[in-house]
Amino acid sequence: MNFDFTDEQKMLQDTVRRYINEKIMSVADEYDRKGPMSKADAQRFLKELKPFGYVGTLVPEELGGAGLTHNEWPILFEELRRGYASLGGVVGITSNSMNRIASSGNIHLRDLILPGLLNGDTIICSAITEPNVGSDTAGIETTAVPDGDSYIINGTKCWISNGTIADYVVVTLKVLDPKTGDRKPAQILVDKAESPFATREIHKIGVRSFPTAELFFEDCRVPRENLLVSKENPAEASVSSLNFARANAAISAVGVAQASLEAAIKYAKERTQFGKRIGQFQLIQEMIADMSAEIEAGRLLAYKAFFCLGKGIRCYKECSIAKAYATEMAIRVTSKAIQIHGAYGLSDEYPVERYFRDARCYTIPDGTTQVQQLIIGRETLGMRAFT
Ligand SMILES: Cc1cc2nc3c(=O)[nH]c(=O)nc-3n(C[C@H](O)[C@H](O)[C@H](O)COP(=O)(O)OP(=O)(O)OC[C@H]3O[C@@H](n4cnc5c(N)ncnc54)[C@H](O)[C@@H]3O)c2cc1C
Repeated sequence: MNFDFTDEQKMLQDTVRRYINEKIMSVADEYDRKGPMSKADAQRFLKELKPFGYVGTLVPEELGGAGLTHNEWPILFEELRRGYASLGGVVGITSNSMNRIASSGNIHLRDLILPGLLNGDTIICSAITEPNVGSDTAGIETTAVPDGDSYIINGTKCWISNGTIADYVVVTLKVLDPKTGDRKPAQILVDKAESPFATREIHKIGVRSFPTAELFFEDCRVPRENLLVSKENPAEASVSSLNFARANAAISAVGVAQASLEAAIKYAKERTQFGKRIGQFQLIQEMIADMSAEIEAGRLLAYKAFFCLGKGIRCYKECSIAKAYATEMAIRVTSKAIQIHGAYGLSDEYPVERYFRDARCYTIPDGTTQVQQLIIGRETLGMRAFT
Protein backbone atom coordinates (compact mmCIF):
# COMPACT_ATOMS: atom_id res chain seq x y z
CA MET A 1 0.00 0.00 0.00
CA ASN A 2 1.30 3.45 -0.90
CA PHE A 3 -0.24 6.75 0.21
CA ASP A 4 2.32 8.94 -1.57
CA PHE A 5 1.67 10.99 -4.68
CA THR A 6 4.25 10.62 -7.45
CA ASP A 7 6.47 13.67 -8.07
CA GLU A 8 4.32 14.51 -11.12
CA GLN A 9 1.09 14.28 -9.11
CA LYS A 10 2.54 16.46 -6.35
CA MET A 11 3.59 19.03 -8.93
CA LEU A 12 0.13 18.92 -10.51
CA GLN A 13 -1.51 19.48 -7.12
CA ASP A 14 0.83 22.35 -6.21
CA THR A 15 0.39 24.07 -9.57
CA VAL A 16 -3.37 23.73 -9.62
CA ARG A 17 -3.72 24.77 -5.96
CA ARG A 18 -1.68 27.91 -6.56
CA TYR A 19 -3.73 28.83 -9.64
CA ILE A 20 -7.04 28.20 -7.89
CA ASN A 21 -6.04 30.13 -4.77
CA GLU A 22 -4.94 33.12 -6.85
CA LYS A 23 -7.41 33.22 -9.74
CA ILE A 24 -10.54 31.23 -8.87
CA MET A 25 -11.23 31.55 -5.12
CA SER A 26 -11.15 35.33 -5.31
CA VAL A 27 -13.95 35.48 -7.92
CA ALA A 28 -16.13 32.60 -6.68
CA ASP A 29 -18.42 34.71 -4.45
CA GLU A 30 -18.95 37.37 -7.11
CA TYR A 31 -19.82 34.80 -9.81
CA ASP A 32 -21.99 32.71 -7.52
CA ARG A 33 -24.14 35.75 -6.65
CA LYS A 34 -24.86 36.28 -10.35
CA GLY A 35 -26.75 32.96 -10.46
CA PRO A 36 -26.51 30.36 -13.23
CA MET A 37 -23.28 30.75 -15.19
CA SER A 38 -23.56 32.10 -18.74
CA LYS A 39 -22.28 30.02 -21.60
CA ALA A 40 -19.62 32.65 -22.38
CA ASP A 41 -18.29 32.52 -18.81
CA ALA A 42 -18.30 28.70 -18.86
CA GLN A 43 -16.35 28.68 -22.14
CA ARG A 44 -13.81 31.18 -20.80
CA PHE A 45 -13.24 29.17 -17.61
CA LEU A 46 -12.95 25.91 -19.59
CA LYS A 47 -10.28 27.45 -21.81
CA GLU A 48 -8.41 28.86 -18.78
CA LEU A 49 -8.47 25.50 -17.00
CA LYS A 50 -7.63 23.35 -20.02
CA PRO A 51 -3.80 23.64 -19.66
CA PHE A 52 -4.05 21.96 -16.23
CA GLY A 53 -5.88 18.91 -17.62
CA TYR A 54 -9.43 19.86 -16.59
CA VAL A 55 -10.91 19.44 -20.09
CA GLY A 56 -11.04 15.89 -21.42
CA THR A 57 -9.13 14.81 -18.31
CA LEU A 58 -9.36 11.07 -19.02
CA VAL A 59 -9.63 11.32 -22.81
CA PRO A 60 -6.52 9.72 -24.36
CA GLU A 61 -3.85 12.07 -25.71
CA GLU A 62 -4.13 10.53 -29.18
CA LEU A 63 -7.73 11.84 -29.29
CA GLY A 64 -6.61 15.29 -28.10
CA GLY A 65 -7.45 14.81 -24.42
CA ALA A 66 -5.32 15.40 -21.31
CA GLY A 67 -4.58 11.66 -21.06
CA LEU A 68 -4.56 11.69 -17.25
CA THR A 69 -5.70 8.76 -15.11
CA HIS A 70 -8.30 8.07 -12.42
CA ASN A 71 -5.58 8.87 -9.86
CA GLU A 72 -5.20 12.46 -11.07
CA TRP A 73 -8.94 13.21 -11.46
CA PRO A 74 -9.51 13.55 -7.67
CA ILE A 75 -6.41 15.74 -7.31
CA LEU A 76 -7.74 18.16 -9.93
CA PHE A 77 -11.37 18.19 -8.87
CA GLU A 78 -10.89 18.41 -5.10
CA GLU A 79 -8.94 21.60 -5.72
CA LEU A 80 -11.49 23.08 -8.14
CA ARG A 81 -14.47 22.31 -5.87
CA ARG A 82 -12.52 23.76 -2.95
CA GLY A 83 -12.00 26.97 -4.92
CA TYR A 84 -15.44 27.31 -6.50
CA ALA A 85 -17.87 24.41 -6.26
CA SER A 86 -20.25 25.55 -9.02
CA LEU A 87 -17.40 25.90 -11.49
CA GLY A 88 -16.19 22.42 -10.50
CA GLY A 89 -19.65 21.20 -11.47
CA VAL A 90 -19.69 22.89 -14.88
CA VAL A 91 -16.22 21.60 -15.72
CA GLY A 92 -16.67 18.14 -14.14
CA ILE A 93 -19.89 17.39 -16.04
CA THR A 94 -18.30 18.52 -19.30
CA SER A 95 -15.14 16.49 -18.77
CA ASN A 96 -17.01 13.40 -17.55
CA SER A 97 -19.63 13.45 -20.35
CA MET A 98 -16.73 13.66 -22.80
CA ASN A 99 -15.50 10.28 -21.55
CA ARG A 100 -18.78 8.82 -22.74
CA ILE A 101 -18.26 10.25 -26.23
CA ALA A 102 -14.58 9.27 -26.37
CA SER A 103 -15.30 5.67 -25.32
CA SER A 104 -18.35 5.31 -27.56
CA GLY A 105 -18.16 2.88 -30.43
CA ASN A 106 -19.70 5.63 -32.61
CA ILE A 107 -16.45 6.83 -34.20
CA HIS A 108 -18.19 9.20 -36.64
CA LEU A 109 -19.86 11.09 -33.80
CA ARG A 110 -16.73 11.01 -31.67
CA ASP A 111 -14.59 12.57 -34.39
CA LEU A 112 -17.28 15.13 -35.20
CA ILE A 113 -17.88 16.60 -31.77
CA LEU A 114 -14.85 15.77 -29.62
CA PRO A 115 -12.57 18.54 -30.98
CA GLY A 116 -15.05 21.32 -30.07
CA LEU A 117 -15.55 19.86 -26.61
CA LEU A 118 -11.82 19.50 -26.05
CA ASN A 119 -11.01 23.10 -26.90
CA GLY A 120 -13.69 24.43 -24.52
CA ASP A 121 -15.94 25.87 -27.23
CA THR A 122 -18.82 23.46 -26.83
CA ILE A 123 -20.52 22.19 -23.70
CA ILE A 124 -22.18 18.87 -23.03
CA CYS A 125 -24.45 17.36 -20.41
CA SER A 126 -26.10 14.06 -19.55
CA ALA A 127 -29.86 13.68 -19.08
CA ILE A 128 -31.34 10.72 -17.20
CA THR A 129 -33.75 12.14 -14.58
CA GLU A 130 -37.39 12.91 -15.47
CA PRO A 131 -40.29 14.45 -13.55
CA ASN A 132 -41.61 10.95 -12.66
CA VAL A 133 -38.25 9.17 -12.71
CA GLY A 134 -35.64 9.87 -10.04
CA SER A 135 -33.99 7.00 -8.18
CA ASP A 136 -35.88 4.36 -10.17
CA THR A 137 -34.24 4.89 -13.56
CA ALA A 138 -35.71 1.69 -14.98
CA GLY A 139 -38.97 3.60 -15.39
CA ILE A 140 -37.65 6.09 -17.95
CA GLU A 141 -40.52 7.42 -20.07
CA THR A 142 -38.66 9.48 -22.71
CA THR A 143 -38.97 7.55 -25.96
CA ALA A 144 -37.26 7.60 -29.36
CA VAL A 145 -39.34 6.28 -32.24
CA PRO A 146 -37.50 5.35 -35.47
CA ASP A 147 -38.70 7.34 -38.49
CA GLY A 148 -36.71 6.83 -41.71
CA ASP A 149 -33.15 8.07 -41.10
CA SER A 150 -34.17 9.73 -37.83
CA TYR A 151 -35.47 9.12 -34.34
CA ILE A 152 -38.32 11.26 -33.05
CA ILE A 153 -37.78 11.95 -29.35
CA ASN A 154 -40.56 12.88 -26.93
CA GLY A 155 -40.19 13.39 -23.19
CA THR A 156 -39.08 15.76 -20.43
CA LYS A 157 -35.80 15.63 -18.53
CA CYS A 158 -35.21 17.54 -15.31
CA TRP A 159 -32.43 18.53 -12.92
CA ILE A 160 -29.96 18.39 -15.79
CA SER A 161 -26.62 19.97 -14.88
CA ASN A 162 -25.33 22.34 -17.59
CA GLY A 163 -28.76 21.89 -19.28
CA THR A 164 -29.30 25.56 -20.21
CA ILE A 165 -25.80 26.12 -21.61
CA ALA A 166 -25.10 22.77 -23.28
CA ASP A 167 -24.70 22.38 -27.03
CA TYR A 168 -25.02 18.59 -26.77
CA VAL A 169 -27.03 16.32 -24.49
CA VAL A 170 -26.48 12.60 -23.99
CA VAL A 171 -30.11 11.55 -23.47
CA THR A 172 -30.84 8.27 -21.72
CA LEU A 173 -34.15 7.02 -23.09
CA LYS A 174 -35.91 4.01 -24.53
CA VAL A 175 -35.99 3.21 -28.23
CA LEU A 176 -39.26 1.77 -29.48
CA ASP A 177 -39.13 -1.30 -31.71
CA PRO A 178 -42.18 -0.67 -33.93
CA LYS A 179 -42.48 -4.37 -34.81
CA THR A 180 -42.53 -5.82 -31.29
CA GLY A 181 -43.54 -2.72 -29.33
CA ASP A 182 -40.54 -3.37 -27.01
CA ARG A 183 -38.72 -0.34 -25.58
CA LYS A 184 -34.98 -0.86 -25.16
CA PRO A 185 -32.70 1.40 -23.04
CA ALA A 186 -30.27 3.47 -25.09
CA GLN A 187 -28.39 6.74 -25.15
CA ILE A 188 -28.75 9.19 -28.03
CA LEU A 189 -26.72 12.35 -28.53
CA VAL A 190 -28.88 15.40 -29.25
CA ASP A 191 -27.18 18.35 -30.95
CA LYS A 192 -29.23 21.39 -29.90
CA ALA A 193 -28.36 23.38 -33.04
CA GLU A 194 -29.52 20.56 -35.31
CA SER A 195 -32.42 19.30 -33.17
CA PRO A 196 -33.72 22.24 -31.10
CA PHE A 197 -35.50 21.72 -27.77
CA ALA A 198 -36.70 24.10 -25.04
CA THR A 199 -35.06 24.50 -21.61
CA ARG A 200 -36.00 26.07 -18.29
CA GLU A 201 -33.58 26.92 -15.49
CA ILE A 202 -34.30 25.39 -12.04
CA HIS A 203 -33.07 27.56 -9.14
CA LYS A 204 -31.69 25.71 -6.13
CA ILE A 205 -30.34 26.23 -2.59
CA GLY A 206 -26.65 25.80 -3.43
CA VAL A 207 -24.13 25.52 -6.26
CA ARG A 208 -26.18 28.40 -7.58
CA SER A 209 -24.03 29.26 -10.55
CA PHE A 210 -23.97 25.63 -11.72
CA PRO A 211 -26.82 25.66 -14.29
CA THR A 212 -29.57 23.08 -13.68
CA ALA A 213 -32.39 22.71 -16.15
CA GLU A 214 -35.52 21.07 -17.39
CA LEU A 215 -35.30 19.96 -21.05
CA PHE A 216 -38.42 19.52 -23.18
CA PHE A 217 -38.22 17.21 -26.21
CA GLU A 218 -41.32 17.57 -28.37
CA ASP A 219 -41.15 15.63 -31.62
CA CYS A 220 -37.43 16.33 -31.60
CA ARG A 221 -35.94 14.83 -34.77
CA VAL A 222 -32.41 13.41 -34.36
CA PRO A 223 -30.34 11.57 -37.01
CA ARG A 224 -30.16 7.80 -36.47
CA GLU A 225 -26.35 8.01 -36.51
CA ASN A 226 -26.53 9.85 -33.16
CA LEU A 227 -27.24 6.60 -31.33
CA LEU A 228 -24.27 6.12 -29.02
CA VAL A 229 -23.38 2.51 -29.67
CA SER A 230 -21.49 1.46 -26.61
CA LYS A 231 -18.75 -1.10 -26.56
CA GLU A 232 -20.43 -2.27 -23.39
CA ASN A 233 -24.16 -2.87 -23.19
CA PRO A 234 -26.15 0.34 -22.43
CA ALA A 235 -27.11 -0.76 -18.92
CA GLU A 236 -23.46 -1.52 -18.02
CA ALA A 237 -22.31 1.75 -19.60
CA SER A 238 -24.69 3.79 -17.51
CA VAL A 239 -23.70 1.91 -14.32
CA SER A 240 -19.99 2.49 -14.93
CA SER A 241 -20.57 6.19 -15.59
CA LEU A 242 -22.79 6.38 -12.48
CA ASN A 243 -20.04 4.77 -10.37
CA PHE A 244 -17.64 7.36 -11.72
CA ALA A 245 -20.14 10.14 -10.95
CA ARG A 246 -20.44 8.82 -7.37
CA ALA A 247 -16.68 8.89 -6.82
CA ASN A 248 -16.68 12.38 -8.32
CA ALA A 249 -19.48 13.54 -5.98
CA ALA A 250 -17.41 12.22 -3.06
CA ILE A 251 -14.27 14.16 -3.99
CA SER A 252 -16.40 17.24 -4.77
CA ALA A 253 -17.87 17.12 -1.27
CA VAL A 254 -14.37 16.71 0.18
CA GLY A 255 -13.28 19.84 -1.71
CA VAL A 256 -16.12 21.95 -0.30
CA ALA A 257 -15.59 20.58 3.22
CA GLN A 258 -11.86 21.35 2.98
CA ALA A 259 -12.64 24.95 1.92
CA SER A 260 -14.88 25.35 4.98
CA LEU A 261 -12.19 23.90 7.27
CA GLU A 262 -9.62 26.35 5.92
CA ALA A 263 -12.05 29.25 6.45
CA ALA A 264 -12.80 28.04 10.00
CA ILE A 265 -9.10 27.76 10.88
CA LYS A 266 -8.44 31.28 9.60
CA TYR A 267 -11.37 32.68 11.59
CA ALA A 268 -10.46 30.75 14.78
CA LYS A 269 -6.99 32.30 14.65
CA GLU A 270 -8.31 35.86 14.14
CA ARG A 271 -11.43 36.14 16.29
CA THR A 272 -10.94 36.94 19.99
CA GLN A 273 -13.43 36.48 22.85
CA PHE A 274 -12.78 36.43 26.61
CA GLY A 275 -9.37 37.92 25.80
CA LYS A 276 -8.25 34.89 23.80
CA ARG A 277 -8.27 33.81 20.18
CA ILE A 278 -11.23 31.44 19.91
CA GLY A 279 -8.95 28.77 18.41
CA GLN A 280 -7.42 28.45 21.90
CA PHE A 281 -10.72 27.18 23.34
CA GLN A 282 -10.81 23.40 23.60
CA LEU A 283 -14.40 23.17 22.32
CA ILE A 284 -13.43 25.03 19.14
CA GLN A 285 -10.42 22.72 18.78
CA GLU A 286 -12.75 19.73 19.18
CA MET A 287 -14.82 20.95 16.20
CA ILE A 288 -11.67 21.58 14.14
CA ALA A 289 -10.34 18.12 15.06
CA ASP A 290 -13.61 16.40 14.10
CA MET A 291 -13.76 18.32 10.82
CA SER A 292 -10.16 17.37 9.96
CA ALA A 293 -10.69 13.69 10.77
CA GLU A 294 -13.94 13.45 8.81
CA ILE A 295 -12.49 15.19 5.75
CA GLU A 296 -9.48 12.88 5.80
CA ALA A 297 -11.77 9.82 5.99
CA GLY A 298 -13.88 11.10 3.09
CA ARG A 299 -10.78 11.84 1.03
CA LEU A 300 -9.33 8.35 1.56
CA LEU A 301 -12.66 6.74 0.61
CA ALA A 302 -12.89 8.88 -2.53
CA TYR A 303 -9.32 8.07 -3.56
CA LYS A 304 -9.95 4.37 -3.01
CA ALA A 305 -13.06 4.53 -5.22
CA PHE A 306 -11.07 6.24 -8.00
CA PHE A 307 -8.25 3.73 -7.58
CA CYS A 308 -10.71 0.84 -8.09
CA LEU A 309 -12.33 2.56 -11.10
CA GLY A 310 -8.88 3.02 -12.64
CA LYS A 311 -8.07 -0.66 -12.13
CA GLY A 312 -11.37 -1.59 -13.77
CA ILE A 313 -12.38 -3.76 -10.84
CA ARG A 314 -15.98 -4.20 -9.63
CA CYS A 315 -16.46 -1.29 -7.25
CA TYR A 316 -20.13 -0.53 -6.65
CA LYS A 317 -19.52 -0.79 -2.91
CA GLU A 318 -16.42 1.41 -2.83
CA CYS A 319 -18.09 4.13 -4.95
CA SER A 320 -21.31 4.07 -2.92
CA ILE A 321 -19.50 4.11 0.44
CA ALA A 322 -17.38 7.07 -0.70
CA LYS A 323 -20.42 8.95 -2.05
CA ALA A 324 -22.67 8.31 0.96
CA TYR A 325 -20.01 9.09 3.56
CA ALA A 326 -18.30 12.09 1.95
CA THR A 327 -21.48 13.92 0.92
CA GLU A 328 -23.14 13.55 4.35
CA MET A 329 -19.81 14.42 5.99
CA ALA A 330 -19.61 17.69 4.02
CA ILE A 331 -22.95 18.83 5.48
CA ARG A 332 -21.71 18.16 9.04
CA VAL A 333 -18.34 19.81 8.44
CA THR A 334 -19.65 22.94 6.68
CA SER A 335 -22.24 23.33 9.43
CA LYS A 336 -19.47 23.28 12.05
CA ALA A 337 -17.59 25.91 10.02
CA ILE A 338 -20.65 28.17 10.39
CA GLN A 339 -20.78 27.44 14.14
CA ILE A 340 -17.14 28.49 14.52
CA HIS A 341 -17.92 31.78 12.74
CA GLY A 342 -20.83 32.54 15.11
CA ALA A 343 -23.40 34.95 13.63
CA TYR A 344 -20.99 36.02 10.88
CA GLY A 345 -21.12 32.47 9.57
CA LEU A 346 -24.76 32.98 8.66
CA SER A 347 -24.08 36.12 6.64
CA ASP A 348 -22.85 36.31 3.08
CA GLU A 349 -19.89 38.38 4.30
CA TYR A 350 -18.02 35.11 4.80
CA PRO A 351 -17.95 32.19 2.34
CA VAL A 352 -18.96 29.49 4.86
CA GLU A 353 -22.71 30.00 4.29
CA ARG A 354 -22.10 29.29 0.57
CA TYR A 355 -20.04 26.18 1.45
CA PHE A 356 -22.93 24.92 3.61
CA ARG A 357 -25.51 25.54 0.86
CA ASP A 358 -23.22 23.96 -1.74
CA ALA A 359 -22.57 20.90 0.45
CA ARG A 360 -26.31 20.37 0.85
CA CYS A 361 -26.59 19.64 -2.87
CA TYR A 362 -24.35 16.53 -3.00
CA THR A 363 -26.41 13.96 -1.08
CA ILE A 364 -29.12 13.83 -3.79
CA PRO A 365 -27.62 13.58 -7.31
CA ASP A 366 -25.97 10.44 -8.68
CA GLY A 367 -28.13 8.34 -6.33
CA THR A 368 -29.36 9.66 -2.98
CA THR A 369 -27.70 8.62 0.29
CA GLN A 370 -30.52 6.11 0.77
CA VAL A 371 -29.90 4.58 -2.65
CA GLN A 372 -26.16 4.33 -1.86
CA GLN A 373 -27.04 2.60 1.41
CA LEU A 374 -29.19 0.09 -0.49
CA ILE A 375 -26.30 -0.60 -2.86
CA ILE A 376 -23.85 -1.02 0.03
CA GLY A 377 -26.40 -3.31 1.71
CA ARG A 378 -26.82 -5.35 -1.47
CA GLU A 379 -23.07 -5.68 -1.99
CA THR A 380 -22.49 -6.58 1.67
CA LEU A 381 -25.44 -8.90 2.30
CA GLY A 382 -25.87 -10.29 -1.18
CA MET A 383 -29.59 -9.44 -0.96
CA ARG A 384 -31.42 -6.75 -2.93
CA ALA A 385 -33.70 -4.35 -1.08
CA PHE A 386 -35.00 -2.92 -4.30
CA THR A 387 -35.96 -4.62 -7.54
C1 LIG B 1 -27.61 19.48 -8.05
C2 LIG B 1 -28.22 18.36 -8.83
C3 LIG B 1 -27.68 18.04 -10.07
C4 LIG B 1 -28.26 17.01 -10.83
N1 LIG B 1 -27.74 16.73 -12.07
C5 LIG B 1 -28.32 15.79 -12.84
C6 LIG B 1 -27.86 15.54 -14.18
O1 LIG B 1 -26.91 16.18 -14.66
N2 LIG B 1 -28.49 14.60 -14.92
C7 LIG B 1 -29.53 13.87 -14.43
O2 LIG B 1 -30.05 13.03 -15.16
N3 LIG B 1 -30.01 14.09 -13.17
C8 LIG B 1 -29.43 15.01 -12.38
N4 LIG B 1 -29.90 15.25 -11.09
C9 LIG B 1 -31.04 14.50 -10.60
C10 LIG B 1 -30.66 13.44 -9.58
O3 LIG B 1 -29.93 12.40 -10.19
C11 LIG B 1 -31.95 12.95 -8.89
O4 LIG B 1 -32.42 14.06 -8.13
C12 LIG B 1 -31.71 11.75 -8.00
O5 LIG B 1 -31.48 10.59 -8.79
C13 LIG B 1 -32.88 11.47 -7.05
O6 LIG B 1 -34.09 11.50 -7.71
P1 LIG B 1 -35.29 12.40 -7.12
O7 LIG B 1 -34.74 13.74 -6.80
O8 LIG B 1 -36.41 12.32 -8.09
O9 LIG B 1 -35.71 11.72 -5.77
P2 LIG B 1 -36.63 10.43 -5.56
O10 LIG B 1 -36.06 9.26 -6.29
O11 LIG B 1 -38.05 10.78 -5.82
O12 LIG B 1 -36.43 10.19 -4.00
C14 LIG B 1 -37.13 10.94 -3.00
C15 LIG B 1 -36.73 10.38 -1.64
O13 LIG B 1 -37.08 8.99 -1.56
C16 LIG B 1 -35.93 8.22 -1.25
N5 LIG B 1 -36.01 6.92 -1.93
C17 LIG B 1 -36.24 6.67 -3.25
N6 LIG B 1 -36.23 5.35 -3.47
C18 LIG B 1 -35.98 4.74 -2.28
C19 LIG B 1 -35.85 3.40 -1.85
N7 LIG B 1 -35.94 2.36 -2.71
N8 LIG B 1 -35.61 3.16 -0.53
C20 LIG B 1 -35.48 4.18 0.36
N9 LIG B 1 -35.60 5.49 0.01
C21 LIG B 1 -35.85 5.76 -1.29
C22 LIG B 1 -34.74 9.05 -1.72
O14 LIG B 1 -33.55 8.69 -1.04
C23 LIG B 1 -35.22 10.46 -1.38
O15 LIG B 1 -34.98 10.70 -0.02
C24 LIG B 1 -29.35 16.28 -10.32
C25 LIG B 1 -29.87 16.60 -9.05
C26 LIG B 1 -29.32 17.64 -8.32
C27 LIG B 1 -29.91 17.98 -6.97
